[in-house]
Amino acid sequence: MALKTPQQYLDDLRQLKIDLYMFGEKVENYVDHPIIRPSINAMAMTYKLAQDPEYEDLMTATSNLTGQKINRFTHLHQSTEDLVKKVKMQRLLGQKTGCCFQRCVGMDAFNAVFNTTYEIDQAKGTNYHQRFIDYMKYVQENDLAVDGCMTDARGDRSKSPGQQPDPDAYLHVVERREDGVVVRGCKLHQTGMINSHEILVMPNNALKEDEKEWAISFAIPLDTPGMIYVYGRQSCDTRKLEGGNVDIGNVHFGGQEVMTIFNDVFVPNDRIFMDGETEFAGTLVERFAGYHRQSYGGCKVGVGDTLIGAAKAITDYQGVSRASHVKDKIIEMCHLNETLYSCGIACSAEGHKTAAGNYLIDLLLANVCKQNVTRFPYEIARIAQDLAGGFFVTMPSEKDFEHPEIGGLVKKYTASSSTVPAEHRQRMLRLIENLTMGCAAVGYLTESMHGAGSPQAQRIMIARLVDLEHRKELAERLCGVKENPDIDWE
Ligand code: SF4
Ligand code: FE
Repeated sequence: MALKTPQQYLDDLRQLKIDLYMFGEKVENYVDHPIIRPSINAMAMTYKLAQDPEYEDLMTATSNLTGQKINRFTHLHQSTEDLVKKVKMQRLLGQKTGCCFQRCVGMDAFNAVFNTTYEIDQAKGTNYHQRFIDYMKYVQENDLAVDGCMTDARGDRSKSPGQQPDPDAYLHVVERREDGVVVRGCKLHQTGMINSHEILVMPNNALKEDEKEWAISFAIPLDTPGMIYVYGRQSCDTRKLEGGNVDIGNVHFGGQEVMTIFNDVFVPNDRIFMDGETEFAGTLVERFAGYHRQSYGGCKVGVGDTLIGAAKAITDYQGVSRASHVKDKIIEMCHLNETLYSCGIACSAEGHKTAAGNYLIDLLLANVCKQNVTRFPYEIARIAQDLAGGFFVTMPSEKDFEHPEIGGLVKKYTASSSTVPAEHRQRMLRLIENLTMGCAAVGYLTESMHGAGSPQAQRIMIARLVDLEHRKELAERLCGVKENPDIDWE
């Protein structure tokens, strides 16, 4: 099988028997659960668009491992063009779903584990890279969604993994067997976790030499015994249980975050891609984070496009779109959004080939990209709220609009123009609420802040990657503090 249809993907999820909890109860049929289904729909779009000839160039690629046509989400980037197409694909999906579509974490983990395992093998004589290639062939041939798991529970932030009073604060090996290892721990904020087929685990941070049990990377199926999932709730999530579809804002799509507990889980040897090589943990983290910081220059831009569209629509509906300050505010939203896109494209175009053969983004520019993503979507959202007016937080519920006695009055007094139905205004305001305050705000705002690392993580990387001494010397040559060797003419 080269490319799965959305229906085949959904059928796969129905086969999984997972231990999932939400609102203090066990969830049996999660595929049809009204709170969960919008996030499954968003992931399903990554399968749907890959079937569409219009998007074939962005959504699919040729596997360097098998020569087959594969979904780009399972691809190992073979050029800077591939890196650019990745960002364009993510923008497209953000536009189509208006939320986090969840499949990028695995794609970014694939590429980071691929080039890091190669370097571990070169240095240590291990055979992780071939194992990982075999795994990637399986992923590509079955068009699997794989969730990259990095962020540990982390306990006391002032202590490293090996110093924690509870060693399980970071996922680690608790038992060694001839045929594999047993791991325990918890990965938090797992985007799209239960919408995936498999889990690809990586360490959370750089490790000390005596922290070998925490230097573990592996992949397992979602329904491996011992895995426990606790669904993260989001603002306004229970609106999805109320019936109707106006008040949820985004009718079909949503994001998903899941607390993922590894409660003594067995991992067979052929699925282990790092085990004890502490000196490579930092490299793996840095590269995964770099790829994911690039990703945000695509996905958040696509969601930003939908919010700009909503701002344009609501100003049209409310009859203010010709005012010069309204036009200027929408231009500002576009300027900010395209600046983010420029960063995503720039770090891709400036990428380079790794020793393993796949391409890595320019890490400095990827960190600059994500640093901007921690800010600009907030400003874009602020302007959208400014343009929408306050009604999106005071508007009566969908049920009041439909009430047999007062519905007519509610519609009469919320109509803004004789040509725009009250319901259109109602829906557009709810979408703006969803994107800037509701469920999608998790993916558009809070995830922009903390996903792929909180702002300080990028500042640390920027400080490490920028050569300040070189810049100082440039200035010293110009003003004559240092001789300028470039001047060799009289
Ligand atoms: Fe993909 Fe963006 Fe969601 Fe990360 S936040 S999984 S890059 S859509
Ligand atoms: Fe994310």
